[in-house]
Amino acid sequence: MLQLVNVGQKSLADYASLATRGLMEEIRRLAEPLRGKRVVHLSATAFGGGVAEINYALIPLMADAGLDVEWRIIKGADEFFGVTKTIHNALQGDERGLTEAQKEIFRRYNAENAEEFEDDYDFVLVHDPQPAFMVDYFSGSRARWIWRCHIDLSTPNSDLIDFLGPSLERYDAAIFHRREYVPDEIRLQEAFIWPPAIDPLTPKNMALSADDAAYVVDQFGIHIDRPLLTQISRFDPWKDPLGVIDAYRIVREQHPDVQLALVGSMAHDDPEGWDFYNRTVAHADGDPGIFILSNLNNIGSVEVNAFQVHSAAVLQKSIKEGFGLTVTEALWKARPTIGGRAGGIVDQIQAGQTGWLVDSSEEAAAACLEIMADPAAAGLRGRAGKEYVRQRFLMTRLLRDWLALFNRLEGNDTGETALVTAGTASS
Ligand code: UDP
Repeated sequence: MLQLVNVGQKSLADYASLATRGLMEEIRRLAEPLRGKRVVHLSATAFGGGVAEINYALIPLMADAGLDVEWRIIKGADEFFGVTKTIHNALQGDERGLTEAQKEIFRRYNAENAEEFEDDYDFVLVHDPQPAFMVDYFSGSRARWIWRCHIDLSTPNSDLIDFLGPSLERYDAAIFHRREYVPDEIRLQEAFIWPPAIDPLTPKNMALSADDAAYVVDQFGIHIDRPLLTQISRFDPWKDPLGVIDAYRIVREQHPDVQLALVGSMAHDDPEGWDFYNRTVAHADGDPGIFILSNLNNIGSVEVNAFQVHSAAVLQKSIKEGFGLTVTEALWKARPTIGGRAGGIVDQIQAGQTGWLVDSSEEAAAACLEIMADPAAAGLRGRAGKEYVRQRFLMTRLLRDWLALFNRLEGNDTGETALVTAGTASS
C-alpha cells in the first residue's frame, strides 16, 4: 500500500467570512451529489513546494464537504527523483532530455507503485509527472483519472512530450494553471484551466501582527530596524536566487543597511536542491547582510509568514514559474511584491497595480528602490494585491472548481457553475 498522509481536519464553515455567500452556497450545492465519493490524490512528496502546500488545505476541505478523500505518496529513491527532476526541468524548457536508462527507471518505479496501489476509488488525482504512468496499469479502472499539472509547460522539450504523451492521453481530464501550458501535441481527452490557491487560515497565511512578525524574524538574526528584502523558494535555478542576490547588491549601493533573506525548504524529491543551495551560499560570499535559511534552521510555516509580513518587499524573481504560490502568499499579506515576468506570476501581478513585474536583476533592484523610496505608495499596490487574491486565489474557489469537475465527469448538471476548458482532442 502506498503511504497515507495525515492532513488533519478543517471546517468549511470557518471560511464563510472570507468567501462570498454565493460561493459557499455553490460549494454546498456541488458537494451534495458527491457525498461519499472516494477520491485519492497521488503525489511524490508530502513536503516542500506548492503541491504539498495545496493538498494540506484542499484535502481536509474536500473531506468536510462530504467526500471520502485520501492522499497517498508514491515510493521513490534518489535514482527515481534524479530522473523526475530531469523531467521537470525538461518540461520547463531545459534542452537535456532523458536517456534510455532514465526512461527505464521512470517506467520501473511507476510499475512498482502501480502494484502497490489499490484501485478502489471514484476519482484518482495524479499530481505532476512523477506518478503519471501509473494510469497505464489500470485500463479497466472504474475510476475517473485526472492529471493535475503544476508546472510551466509553455515551452516543453519535445522529447518529453513524446515520452509522456501516450500516458497523459489516457486520463479522463487534465488540468493546467494557464491556457499556454496545454500541450497541443498531446491529444488529451479534455483539458481544463484553473489556477491553484492558498489557504488564508493556515499558520502560513493567517493574520500576524507587525510586532509578532518582527519578534519572529529577530530570532533569526535579522535587524528589525533595517529594511529587509525576502525571497521564499526552493533552491532551484528557475527561482533565480543568484539573481536576487545581484539585485540586493545593487540596492545596497544606495541603502547600505538593506538585508536579504533567502528562505528555502529542501523538498524530499529534489536531489538538485543541495547543490544549488551550496551555489547560492557561495554567491552570497559571506555577506553578513544576506541570510540563507531553510527548514534545517527551523523555518516552518509561521516563520515564512513572519518573513513575508516583515519585509519591505517580497521578491519571486523566477525565470520559469508554474504559478508561484509565494507570490499569492505575499500579496495576501498586502506586501509590495516583485515577480519575474514568468508563468503564473503574470496572472497575479498586474504591473503597476498589484505589484512589479521584472525581467532582470537590475529591474528587480529598481523596483526595490522605488518601494523603499515611497513605502506609502507601495503599500497601496500591496493592498490592491490582497483584494486581487481574495477574488481569485483562495482555497474555497479551488474546492469549487474540483467539485464542479467531479460532477461534470459524473455527468451531473453543474448548474450555473462554469469551468474553463481548453477544448478536447476531437475539437
Ligand atoms: N515554501 C515554504 N518554505 C520554504 C520555501 C517554500 O514553506 O522554505 C512554500 C511556499 O511558502 C509556497 C510553496 O512552498 O507555499 C512553494 O510554492 P510555489 O508555487 O511558489 O513553488 P514550487 O515550489 O511549487 O515550484
